[in-house]
Amino acid sequence: IEEIQDFKGTYPKQIWGLFFSEMWERFSFYAMRGMLTYFMVYHLLMDEKTAQLQYGATQAFVYAFTFIGGLFADKFLGFRRSLFWGGMLMIVGSTLLAINPKEFFFLGLAFNIVGTGFFKPNISSMVGQLYKDGDRRTDAGFLLFYSGINLGAFFGGFVISVGKGTMLSDYIPEHLRWNVAFGFAALMMLISLVNFIFTKRNLGPIGSSPIDTSIKENKYKQIAIYIGTLAAIPLIIKMVSNTDYTDYFMFFIGPFSLIYLFYEMTKNTASENKKLFAALFFILFSVVFWAIFEQAGGSLSLFAAENLHDNLLGFSIDPNAVNNSINSLFVIIFAPIVGILFIKLSERKLEPNSVLKFGLAFLLLGLAFYTFYSISLTADASGKGSLNIFAFAYFIVTFAELFLSPIGLSLMTKLSPYRLQGFMMGMWFLASAYGQYVAGLFGASITPDKKATNLDKLIIYAQGYKDFALYAVIAGVLLIVFVPLMKKLMQEVK
Ligand code: GLN
Repeated sequence: IEEIQDFKGTYPKQIWGLFFSEMWERFSFYAMRGMLTYFMVYHLLMDEKTAQLQYGATQAFVYAFTFIGGLFADKFLGFRRSLFWGGMLMIVGSTLLAINPKEFFFLGLAFNIVGTGFFKPNISSMVGQLYKDGDRRTDAGFLLFYSGINLGAFFGGFVISVGKGTMLSDYIPEHLRWNVAFGFAALMMLISLVNFIFTKRNLGPIGSSPIDTSIKENKYKQIAIYIGTLAAIPLIIKMVSNTDYTDYFMFFIGPFSLIYLFYEMTKNTASENKKLFAALFFILFSVVFWAIFEQAGGSLSLFAAENLHDNLLGFSIDPNAVNNSINSLFVIIFAPIVGILFIKLSERKLEPNSVLKFGLAFLLLGLAFYTFYSISLTADASGKGSLNIFAFAYFIVTFAELFLSPIGLSLMTKLSPYRLQGFMMGMWFLASAYGQYVAGLFGASITPDKKATNLDKLIIYAQGYKDFALYAVIAGVLLIVFVPLMKKLMQEVK
């Protein structure tokens, strides 16, 4: 492993294999995610509200299962086997959807949900293992990896998703579109795994066996986990298809994961536990971040559909296309640049520490949502405002995201004791699950009445965004106030 971690230059060469596997996985994931609501409304004939709740439930579940995927990887499977198992489940899920999307809808989804849980946290943990403790290039590595995530997200939503104005819809006959689209999602996932088989060869010992060595590696336990996952599928179908169960599940899983963490803490040294408390602090703040950020998929898409001119820098363009893709596009471009900037700053000993990065992320998020609010100041009497300002707000959102999301991944690997790496990565994504969940509530709380005029709608949304801006700024200031305390908890971690 030292051979890998002693690399020269900006990035370890193994990161590219992980970059591409994650890119293909996200390609598949975001293609699927982009189709869900639309499919539920137009083919399963759900009403819009139910479809939205159902969509929210799948998102919450996807990220909640990362907690289980990470935990099992640490203790029984190791990162590689876990990732592989997850990928296979996702292939099965998408293939079922490709065969008969209506018939197998919830079955296919359930496979995809558990599959992502096993895949997603563990590939990120492996990125962390490419670096020695204290290597100043770690954040840049995660920023590059994050660029890969968004490359997948961008093309997934744009090329594969079936819906207005996506490429597939233009070329495939109507009655086959959904089968083909879900089939593509399965194919992407297959490419991801094939790519990983090649990547594996260069990874040395990374991820090959469970990192918690207090438990003996045991084939039978591993097989039991595989069988257990399959046995849990009917239960997951039940929980996803009835959103009341989603609520119960969300009430349960957070407290349960915390209790489990505290139990694990009893086995640690005081210094390890201080770092874990710091990690928990970052995780809690990230819930607030995602709750505001994830308006993107909810209220902001409705806002974009009705309250924006379709004119971006003189070009005519559908505002929803801007809402769905511009953030990914900005991330792809700016993530590596920010990464290299951090390395340069750290060479001059000027790099802000992670708490400050989080604080800045919130201040930028506040600024961005204030910018969304400011669209209302430029609106005309029909309640439509400037798409240019909207795009500019997303530009700011992107930097907020870059200062928090990849840095958070990186922090989890730095702050967790070795044997809890996968578990803590799972906790980080579990926070995303809660963020999505709260985002839905936030979104619903500022959704105007159907009967409202377009201008009224604009004003109601704008007022909501102004409030969110304030929440973000408060969170940012709090973080900055906590810098000294956090530095103590984090010790040598920057
Ligand atoms: N957009 C990122 C991804 O898909 C972050 C997701 C999250 O943590 N909520 O990986």
